[in-house]
Amino acid sequence: MHEMPQDDLEQSLRSAQPLLWCNPRLQPEAAAQADTGISLADVRAAQARFQRCAPLLARLFPELAASAGRIESPLLATPALQQALGLPASSGRLWLKADHGLPVAGSIKARGGIHEVLEFAEGLALAEGLIAPGDDYGRLAEAPARALFGRYRVLVGSTGNLGLSIGIMAAALGFRAEVHMSADAKAWKKARLRQHGVSVVEHLGDYEEAVAAGRRQAEQDPFCYFVDDERSPSLLLGYSAAALHLAEQLQQAGISVDAEHPLFVYLPCGVGGAPAGVAFGLKQLFGAHVHCFFAEPTQSPCFLLGLAAEPGQLPSVYQHGLDNRTEADGLAVPRASALALELMRPLLSGVLTVSDAQLFRQLYLAGSSQGLRIEPSAAAGFGGPALLCQSTVGRAYLTRHGLQAAMPQASHLLWTTGGLFVPEDEYQGFYARGAALQA
Ligand SMILES: *Cc1c(COP(=O)(O)O)cnc(C)c1O
Repeated sequence: MHEMPQDDLEQSLRSAQPLLWCNPRLQPEAAAQADTGISLADVRAAQARFQRCAPLLARLFPELAASAGRIESPLLATPALQQALGLPASSGRLWLKADHGLPVAGSIKARGGIHEVLEFAEGLALAEGLIAPGDDYGRLAEAPARALFGRYRVLVGSTGNLGLSIGIMAAALGFRAEVHMSADAKAWKKARLRQHGVSVVEHLGDYEEAVAAGRRQAEQDPFCYFVDDERSPSLLLGYSAAALHLAEQLQQAGISVDAEHPLFVYLPCGVGGAPAGVAFGLKQLFGAHVHCFFAEPTQSPCFLLGLAAEPGQLPSVYQHGLDNRTEADGLAVPRASALALELMRPLLSGVLTVSDAQLFRQLYLAGSSQGLRIEPSAAAGFGGPALLCQSTVGRAYLTRHGLQAAMPQASHLLWTTGGLFVPEDEYQGFYARGAALQA
C-alpha cells in the first residue's frame, strides 16, 4: 500500500513531475552481493591502490603536494544550508561531502576515472618489469614508464566530467588520450581537455552514442584501452573507496551510524557508476543503518526506470516519452549501467527526481547560504531530506523501517559531485538563474 502503483509512477515520470520513489526490492540487511562478485575486499583494494599511487600523483600534479598525493574532499557541517532548505532540527542534521572541490578532475570522477587509469598503468608497468610490488611508484612519472605508456591510447566516451578525469590523468602519465564527447558536453570542458593535450572527438548524438563510438574504436586496436563507463568494475571500485574515508571523517566529526543514529545519503546519478560505487561501499560498512538515495533529473531518470523494471531489462528514458535534456550535463544519461543496477537492486533505498529549475534554485542556495560553488548536477540531491521527512512516500519509508523516533538524531549527507573547474562566467550565469527562481 505504500508503493506508488506502476501506472501512477509511469504517469508521473512521463509528465516529468519531481517525485520520490522507494525501492520495493530493498533488502535492509543485504550487505555483500554474491552474484556481482564485488566485495568489501575489492573496495579496500581500490583504496590501497590509491595509497600506493599517492607518491606518483604527488609528482604529476602540483595541486596534490599539500595532501601528499591523496585525492579527497572534506565533510562539512552545513547549518545555514539546512535552514535555507527548510529542514527543521527535528528531522536531523545536514552535512555535505564536498566532492565538488576534488582536485585534478574537479568532480567525483576524480575517484573512479583516476583509479581506472592507475590500475591500467600499474598493470602495464608490472608486466614490463618497470616496477615491482612494494617499489616507489613515483618512478612511473619517469622517462622509461612514459615511453611505455606512450605506446597506448586511452579512450573514453563521456558527457564531460569523466572525459576530464580520464583525459587529464592519462595525458599526465604519457598515454595518448582520446575523449569522445556527447552533444551535451560543455564547450569549456572540451577546451580544457585540449589544453592538456587530449584529443577530443565530438559526436552529434547523446552519451550512449559517444560511448559506443569509443568502444568500437578500441575493439580494433590492441594498443587501445577503453574505459567503459557503462560496464567497468574498476571505475565503480574507485568511487567505492570514498566510503572508507568517509567512515573516518564521520568518526572524527563525532557522528555515529547505528539504529539510533541513521545516516541518509543523497547522491546525484547519471549512468549510476559513481553513486553505486559510493553506496556499495557505505552499505558494506554500515549495513541497514545507512539509507542511500540517488537523485536524477526529471528528464533523465534512467536509474529509477531500471530499478522499477523487471531485473534483466534496461529501459531507456526515450521509451518513456522523455527527452534526456537537462542542464545537469553530468546526469544526462538515457540508460543506466547494468552493473550499477544489479549492484543496487537490493541495496538502494530509493530515487528522487528533480527539475532543472530546482537544480538552479538549489545551486543558488548552496552559494548564498554556505559559499559553496557547485555545478547544476551537484545540486540534484538537495531536495532529498525534505522529501524523505515531509512527503507521504518518504514518511511511509521512515515508518516502514522504524526510523521516525530516531530522526532528531539522524544525519543527512548531500554529496556535491562537481563544480571546481566551472568557468566563472558560467557559474555566475547559473547563480543568477537560481536567484531569479527563488520564490
Ligand atoms: C558523472 C557525474 C555524476 C554521476 O556519476 P555516474 O557515474 O554517471 O552516475 C554526478 N555528478 C557529476 C557532477 C558528474 O559528473
